[in-house]
Amino acid sequence: MLDYLRKECRDSTGFVVPVPDRMIMQEQYELIDKLLETRELSKEEWIQVLENRNAASADYLFEKARRIREAVYGKDVYIRGLIEISSYCKNNCYYCGIRRDNRKAERYRLTPEDILRCTDEGWRLGFRTFVLQGGEDGYYTDDLLCDLLEKIKSRHPGCAVTLSLGERGEKSFRRLFEAGADRYLLRHETADSNHYAMLHPPEQRLETRKECLFALKRIGYQVGSGFMVGSPGQTTENLAEDLLFLKELNPQMVGIGPFIPHHDTPFGTCPAGSVELTVYLLGLIRLMLPHVLLPATTALGTLDPQGREKGILAGANVVMPNLSPVAVRKKYSLYDNKLCTGEEAAESLSALKERIHRIGYTVVIDRGDYR
Ligand code: SAH
Repeated sequence: MLDYLRKECRDSTGFVVPVPDRMIMQEQYELIDKLLETRELSKEEWIQVLENRNAASADYLFEKARRIREAVYGKDVYIRGLIEISSYCKNNCYYCGIRRDNRKAERYRLTPEDILRCTDEGWRLGFRTFVLQGGEDGYYTDDLLCDLLEKIKSRHPGCAVTLSLGERGEKSFRRLFEAGADRYLLRHETADSNHYAMLHPPEQRLETRKECLFALKRIGYQVGSGFMVGSPGQTTENLAEDLLFLKELNPQMVGIGPFIPHHDTPFGTCPAGSVELTVYLLGLIRLMLPHVLLPATTALGTLDPQGREKGILAGANVVMPNLSPVAVRKKYSLYDNKLCTGEEAAESLSALKERIHRIGYTVVIDRGDYR
């Protein structure tokens, strides 16, 4: 079916002639329409729609994406207070600034009391969801976390708690869910096992990651997955596989952001991912998963001062300001120049609200559950 859409074709005498641009455009519109109608594309179609994208197809896509997001969530933008609880990590992901072997990383961990203080401050500021994120740090046992979850829930009835603490066993996930955790973020990072092996040491396996994600879904969490855009070695085919995997998992949340190098990692000199491609992917994901909670991520805001606005205008509906204690923020350094003050900070919420208001959307005080 896509034969006539190839970038080149041969005339009757066998000479290669360029396909007119409008045929490529026609293909883009058809693929976007098909995605809108059927909520899925084949691997080949994903590759086509990504490789032949351009400014006009982006406008077309984002207009559809906004229409869908507004049909499901109106003009509301949900906020999550991000509390970075630990920079200790037993893992050694090649891209991440807090990887185990980065001797230069400054390590800290927050106690349950520190975390409770953050949630108190967050609640006062209008946050109704708290995201506890950190490296894989053995300090946070199930007992400690269950006790903490119960305390957060009793101090702030009606709030939602999201955990983003890496891989754990199904039993652990279940105990945390029963103690009050509502959601869990665990990006799959890449759905291709060869690419996964380029980004992680051999003891970390894509299969384990996927098993965790399916376990979280079985237990009843609202689950978030996702990947970095432009991570070293990533191909368009890998991105197509990421989109197919997301379709299969059908998560309630999808976090994607551009890869950004961290100078003290093996990928310190690799180029950063593209904001433009990230935003295009946000639009595509909105069409594929109409109800998904889709953040305009910190990494997007770090690479482009307008990144979050661009994300929202492409179909994103969540932002996650930083609610960590100011003294530790710089130490949670996943990549270089990570935003953590200014409008990225929870205490500057009014400035963020204003910016979002200017593009026609409204920050709401709400748990912001999946609909
Ligand atoms: N330990 C938790 C949290 C990881 S940090 C876990 O394993 O899920 C959250 C996300 O930050 C990661 O999933 C990864 O996709 C992203 N990240 C890490 N290093 C990055 C970098 N250099 N550039 C962009 N994003 C990065």
